[in-house]
This record gives sequence, structure tokens and C-alpha cells, in this order.
Amino acid sequence: MQDAGCRMQDMKERTEFKSALNVMDGVEQPSQVNKDAVQKLKAKRPQTLSPAEFVQGIRSGNRTLLSKAITLIESSLPTHQQKAQELINFCLPYSGKSVRIGITGVPGVGKSTFIEALGVSLTSKGHQVAVLAIDPSSTRSKGSILGDKTRMEELSVNPSAFIRPSPSAGSLGGVARKTRETIILCEAAGFDIIFVETVGVGQSETTVRSMVDFFLLLMLAGAGDELQGIKRGIMEMADAIFINKADGDNVNKAKMARIEYKNALHLFPPPESRWSPVVDICSAQAQTGIDKVWEYILDFTEKTKASGYFDHQRKQQFRQVISETIDQALKQEFYNRKDISSALVQYEKEVLAGNLSPYTAAAMLLGTAGEKRGSEAAK
Ligand code: GDP
Repeated sequence: MQDAGCRMQDMKERTEFKSALNVMDGVEQPSQVNKDAVQKLKAKRPQTLSPAEFVQGIRSGNRTLLSKAITLIESSLPTHQQKAQELINFCLPYSGKSVRIGITGVPGVGKSTFIEALGVSLTSKGHQVAVLAIDPSSTRSKGSILGDKTRMEELSVNPSAFIRPSPSAGSLGGVARKTRETIILCEAAGFDIIFVETVGVGQSETTVRSMVDFFLLLMLAGAGDELQGIKRGIMEMADAIFINKADGDNVNKAKMARIEYKNALHLFPPPESRWSPVVDICSAQAQTGIDKVWEYILDFTEKTKASGYFDHQRKQQFRQVISETIDQALKQEFYNRKDISSALVQYEKEVLAGNLSPYTAAAMLLGTAGEKRGSEAAK
């Protein structure tokens, strides 16, 4: 209506204007754009929302906005990155109130089945559960160990749950950063339990350990540590080890394994948390022993909050992120310098020819920061 009114006014003005050109005015083209509709759409498009409005939406439980905010975090576009950082800073005061639980174990151990069983049980108790994943090894186009829709069937349609697949691209560091930031958004959105799942191979467990409060390792009975690819270091990081698939004929084997792992854990030095890691059995499929995990987690949080370790660990994790981010940025800046890359090639030749020690080469390269002496000195 407003549009039509504008056009009428426009025509009136033009007819009043005494010019020969006005004679041709009858061929006015209808507007191709419905301005009203555009206005309404714009008002709805998240890009046009201010960070404060965005955060308000996220906090009021708007899942679409939460997903869009995570997409902003995952985007590598500088404008998106900037907006994402603003959002995170706005969300920070509302974050931190969840229990963050890391879950690892080799593919096939039953992580998804386990998270589905525990997640459904927790939502039925009134909790809001978010499930995130770190899977940098995945090259699948959908990019995720959680990408497969057939997994966590019940939880994925549960209104009290939110499942977000791992971002498909990027280095472990990049994926970790995105997951850390996604945790903050999910907490601001009211999720009080956050699961971060990762495959038990490679470096990703250490990364997940550095962003969660409680770290759960799922194992299989009778497969042997070597077979399961679980390194000693990963067992050492765990607050709980659960031997899954303790059902049917497997129950006795699982009980045996429980004794073995308990003994193995005794050999490790006591952890800083003063929490003695627990070893137990469960069946994600038969849904036995699952609630025990939650009881252990509650016990852990109660004890470590009382001792101050819970808070201490989170602060340590923040410090670690700051120092890691600075390390990465400095390194990137250094290697991106053209004079460094050419000098590096020269020095490497010298080192390989036995004319220069690698330490001297590195020291000389570092000493060239700000000057262009590196390549000259190598000649
Ligand atoms: P993930 O790769 O670690 O996420 O493992 P999944 O949850 O996808 O489980 C791998 C396979 O093991 C699936 O076929 C599950 O049905 C099965 N599975 C998972 N948990 C159990 C369990 O407790 N007992 C038995 N018998 N099978 C299980």
C-alpha cells in the first residue's frame, strides 16, 4: 500500500513539473521489488540483527539463531569472524554454568550409542543436553562422526537436546577453537550438560581434555590396549574408564577387564584433581550402568567444586587458550614473512651440507626478525 502511495505521489510530482519530457511519463514501469516484503525479510535475517539482539534470541532458546551463530563461528570470512567474536563476548557472562564432558574411545566402541542413552536419560530428568564433536580426521564431505543422521536417532529429535556435527574443515587447532566457542554459545543458550565427543586416535583427545571438566574413556573388553589404539597417556587423562558392551556373553570379560584397568590405574601418579579415576562397566545398548556414569560425574563435580579444583581447571584452560593462540599467531606471522621463507631455504641447505648447526640456523633466522639479513648471511 505504501508503495502504491509513493508511486502516486511520485507521478503527481512529475506531472506538475512542466517539461516536454513529461509527455512520455505514461510508460512508467511497475516496481520489480516489493519493498515491504524486503523490509520484513531483512528484519528476520540474522545478519541484520545486532549482536545484542542475536544473543537475546539465543538466550531465549531460539535454536535457529544458535545454529546460525555457530555457523558464523565456523566461517572463515573475516566479517563473520568479527561478528562471531562479538557474539562470544556478549555470551560469555551467561556461559560457564554447564558440566562439560569429554568422551573418547576407538570407532565402534559405542560412543554415539552411549551418548544417546545417557542424553535421553538426562533430558528426561529435565536437563538440556548439547552434543558437539571433534573429528579432524574426517574427510567425509558432511565432515563428521555425528553427521550420520541414523546415529543418536532419539536425541536428535529431542527438544531438550542439540546435536552439532564437527566442523568439516580445518586443522585440529581450528576445529578446537570453534568447539570451545560453540560451548560458550550453547551454555548461553541454556544447555547445562555439554558432551564433546572425539575419536580415540591421534591428538584430538588431548585437545578435548583441554576444554572439558570431566573426561570419560570408553573401552572394550578383551581387545587389549594396543588393539584399541589407546595410548597410556589417554588413560592417564581419564576421570573415568567405562568398559562398554558389557552385555550377553561379554559381561564376564568386561568384569575381568575392569580389574585389569583398575590395577593399571594404580600405577599412575595421583591426578591434580585428587579425584581417583573410576573404572566400571556398562552397556550402552542394554542401557545398563549408564546412570552410574552420571552419578560419578555428579560426585566429581561436587568434590572438585568443594576443593576449588573445578574452577582452577577452567581458569587453567583459559590461560592455555591465550598462550596457544599467541603461539600460533606469532608462528604464522614469522613463517608468512617472505624474507624468512627464502632465508629458511638457504639455511636448510647449509645445515644439510654440514656447514651450520641447526640451532645456529634457527637462532640466525629468529635474529633476522625486522631485518633482511638472513638470506644475505647464508650466502
Ligand atoms: P562409536 O563409533 O564409538 O560411536 O560406536 P557406535 O555407537 O556407533 O556403536 C558401534 C556399534 O556397536 C553399533 O553397531 C552399536 O549398535 C554397537 N554397540 C554400541 N554399544 C553397544 C553395547 O553396549 N553393547 C553391544 N552389544 N553393542 C553395542
